[in-house]
Amino acid sequence: MNALHSTIRHSTVFDHPEMDNHENVVFVRDRDTGLSAIIAVHDTTLGPALGGCRVWPYGNPYDALTDALRLSRGMTYKNALAGLDLGGGKAVIIADPRKDKTAGMMEAFGRHVDRLSGTYITAEDVGVSPQDMEAVARQTNHVRGTSATGLGDPSPYTALGVFEGIRAAVRHVFGSDSLEGRTASVQGLGHVGFDVARMLHEAGARLIVSDIHAPAVLRTVEAFGAATADPAQAHMVEADLFVPCALGAGLNAGTVPQIRARIVAGAANNQLQTPGDGVALKQRGILYAPDYAINAGGVISIALATPGSNDALVREKTVAIGDTLAAIFERAAQQETTPESIADAMAEERLAQSGKD
Ligand code: NAD
Repeated sequence: MNALHSTIRHSTVFDHPEMDNHENVVFVRDRDTGLSAIIAVHDTTLGPALGGCRVWPYGNPYDALTDALRLSRGMTYKNALAGLDLGGGKAVIIADPRKDKTAGMMEAFGRHVDRLSGTYITAEDVGVSPQDMEAVARQTNHVRGTSATGLGDPSPYTALGVFEGIRAAVRHVFGSDSLEGRTASVQGLGHVGFDVARMLHEAGARLIVSDIHAPAVLRTVEAFGAATADPAQAHMVEADLFVPCALGAGLNAGTVPQIRARIVAGAANNQLQTPGDGVALKQRGILYAPDYAINAGGVISIALATPGSNDALVREKTVAIGDTLAAIFERAAQQETTPESIADAMAEERLAQSGKD
């Protein structure tokens, strides 16, 4: 028996290392469609647990459970800090989104979401398209981000929140939130990164941009007159701001010592490879905007949009990300700790306060 199988045999869900008093963990199988899924509801103190559904070809069910437990807890913190009256949950479907996923499978998933009677609300995540969510929505009302429920693509709101967060960081470090003449290295020019680059450009910043996809770079250079960098070196260019909008774990033992910017603030999820990398940033005098605080605009748009509503409330809450980050930076400076530990504490305070109401 290999080490993995012995780990599974000798541990239960309750003593899984990522188990954190999750309220409900549901293991789902549907024989007819081949659906194999885990739905994790971490905390419903603030309201129903909202979090996306990820379709991923996990190597084994243990890894899928790890992801569901970790991501659902993350959603509790993200939703709490964003001021949403929503708890945290997440679903994972064990399947290759390109080969295995079918409308029938997504409908079966929808039936299982429905069985949870609204304690879990699902939405899109990695490997899930708007069409997949339409299939889910044929079976349950507990779904967001469909044409009937939402404002469409959440990326513009994520970008708006990131831009407001950048302004808060610039104000904290330089005493004024003006971006005129500041230089920003934007890594990743996809749905969010391109829009962040646009707002930085419009605010007078000088752009150095990078992406592994050459057409994305070309488009940004043509639109904003940006300079370019090698994507692998985006963190080490001479700039005021490093704005990671590509993939996670970009802040690690290799990159942190090489960063020349005073601020790291971008949309990418899970930017810090380990908590120690956040401490290392602080020790180097680099201000880091915690990822789940600055990139919450997308979940705000998914959570608050109603059919036929305009986006005024969503924009208001998204712009408020700047105020939340300003408070985080202030407290972190006073307590001589990292911004991410303050973000966690603020989310926990909101949960504790709500529990007393
Ligand atoms: P996207 O797929 O549209 O864009 C990502 C871009 O990064 C692509 O152009 C890709 O070519 C580029 N890229 C990938 N690896 C790279 C590398 N090593 N170096 C440079 N560029 C690289 O994704 P997106 O929706 O713009 O999301 C960007 C990040 O923000 C992701 O980490 C995502 O999880 C996070 N995020 C997005 C949203 C949202 O609303 N879209 C919300 C919260 C967080």
